[in-house]
Amino acid sequence: MPIQSKAAVIRRYGEPLAVEDVELLDPGPEELVVKIEASGVCHSDLSLARGYYPDIPIPIVPGHEGSGIVVEVGEDVESLKKGDKVFTIWMASCLGCEYCLSGRFHLCQNALKAIVNASLPSGELKIRDRSGNQIHHFTSTAALASHIVVHEKNVVKLTLDVPLDKVAILGCAVLTGVGAALKTAGVREGSSVAVIGLGGVGMNIIQGARLAGAEKIIAIDLYDSKLEWAVKFGATHLVNAAREDPAEAVKKITGDGVDYAFEATGSVKAMELAYKLTRRGGVVTIVGVERGGVDIRIPALDLHMTEKTIKGCYYGSSSPRLDALKYLSLYKAGKLMLDELVTRSYRLEEINDVFRDMEEGRIIRGVVKP
Ligand SMILES: [Zn+2]
Ligand SMILES: [Zn+2]
Repeated sequence: MPIQSKAAVIRRYGEPLAVEDVELLDPGPEELVVKIEASGVCHSDLSLARGYYPDIPIPIVPGHEGSGIVVEVGEDVESLKKGDKVFTIWMASCLGCEYCLSGRFHLCQNALKAIVNASLPSGELKIRDRSGNQIHHFTSTAALASHIVVHEKNVVKLTLDVPLDKVAILGCAVLTGVGAALKTAGVREGSSVAVIGLGGVGMNIIQGARLAGAEKIIAIDLYDSKLEWAVKFGATHLVNAAREDPAEAVKKITGDGVDYAFEATGSVKAMELAYKLTRRGGVVTIVGVERGGVDIRIPALDLHMTEKTIKGCYYGSSSPRLDALKYLSLYKAGKLMLDELVTRSYRLEEINDVFRDMEEGRIIRGVVKP
């Protein structure tokens, strides 16, 4: 029996989303249905809606930070049963490809194939609109909905006693941000760090840097409200780039630049700024997602003379399943903040308001409760 769901659907890039009644086909082998309790809205959902990834097929349901309760399981699902509490991760690492076998689960080539096709890992599409037409699954999760069909590898069972709405944002903002600091860049104790862009991911880079024991953590943004929030997560210095030149400000604080600069806005200008803020021998980590077809300009001679390292960052270089549980334990121990990341809750019908608030810098993370 198909399952009835409500979902935010992107039908045309650049236009407001509509919330539609959709049907979910029965879960196949290794798939299950989750009733969503909460779903975080990530900047990449906004970028998708704005048409930054024109190769991703539409119509599509965005969303990839969902948490909820398993209400149905397909055959061969052994790890989960009805009633289990779960949250989504957006790489269904296959555990069999070369990347997975070498421990780089976030680079799994089979999970990536499903993400590029905007399908489930099986290659199938299981969302139908009222006319029976297929709708795609963003990052195989399509979590901005009341119910979702997902592969069991796209969810993690919540074994600790933590409210479901708190864990929704673990699956992207925390894994990506904290992972960027701890795993991609490998921030060292006593070092200096600059973070450009204080959304859900940027705040988590700051708390990752704090967990790593960085001495100076410089938060850079255009909004004073976000800069003030950053102090809670561990920022030691604040720079409002709307009022002062961030390169000058960072030089004043550090002398010759930071050991680690992170870009978390998805703008090429900020990426080039991150390079500029980094001292000789430092590491530049590009976490934000710029639209396709845009290049970064790096001065070649300077790169040679300064021996800086430029790193891409995909999903915080994390082992999503393992790291998510590790971060949950840190949350339980009071060392990692989750509650403070969610600035506001919305109804699913308010999805366009979430996007507007994100663009206007009013929230760190908005969470939709269908
Ligand atoms: Zn995300
Ligand atoms: Zn794999």
